[in-house]
Amino acid sequence: MTRIASHRGGTLEYGDSTPQGFAATAVMPLEEVEFDVHPTRDGAIMVHHDATLDRTTDSTGVIAALTEGEVRAATINYGAGSHPLSLAELSAVFKPGKVDLRCEIKPGSDGRAYVDFVPRVIETLDQQGMLARTTFTSFLLETLDELASATQRPRLWLVSPPVLRQLGYAGVLEIARSHAIGEIGVNIDTADAALMDATVAAGLEFGCWAAHTPEQIGKALALGVKVFTTDRPSLAIAIRDRQRQEPRA
Ligand code: FE
Repeated sequence: MTRIASHRGGTLEYGDSTPQGFAATAVMPLEEVEFDVHPTRDGAIMVHHDATLDRTTDSTGVIAALTEGEVRAATINYGAGSHPLSLAELSAVFKPGKVDLRCEIKPGSDGRAYVDFVPRVIETLDQQGMLARTTFTSFLLETLDELASATQRPRLWLVSPPVLRQLGYAGVLEIARSHAIGEIGVNIDTADAALMDATVAAGLEFGCWAAHTPEQIGKALALGVKVFTTDRPSLAIAIRDRQRQEPRA
């Protein structure tokens, strides 16, 4: 069965990376929650998509240059007045349930990997008892390499459309193999059966991200990808349920 990952706690249903979205996701009949992490200036790890607060909150500033208190004071847009969670708080939301973590390690506002960040994320998840339920993702090979040296947990390479276009299937799979990456994920709009078959034939797992419309969700399910992320987890669950109930032609 294709797995569903609630992207940032279901951005189009609950706002971007909101406590409400994560709490709702934790009790949904789906398999994973996707979220992104950034360090603060004073050593906290916060769950937020962008490297800055500017786009998705009422505040501004680069998270890595702010204190934990300053990040917590930001009110998330369309988030019913809520504020960003720490990684430890997010872990506590998911610990009692069955939904596993899909943790994306983001770069800083300059596009570069944060220095000495990966070991702290791993340590926090371990302390919270959630490391064994976490898959790590990143667009950055440097970050995936850092993860490999620090944990045995699965690592998923997020392959952007320009990278896929430039390298082609063979190039992407060769790089994945050379970095011992077990799984790739591509934008749903760049996914097709040929790429999935080539990936699986190379011994890697294949998934998609950003499947938000009924058409995109239907495409991911029809391909039979391992997992896809979606901003509309309730919609994805409904479509998957309907397809599973329909007798196959
Ligand atoms: Fe992400």
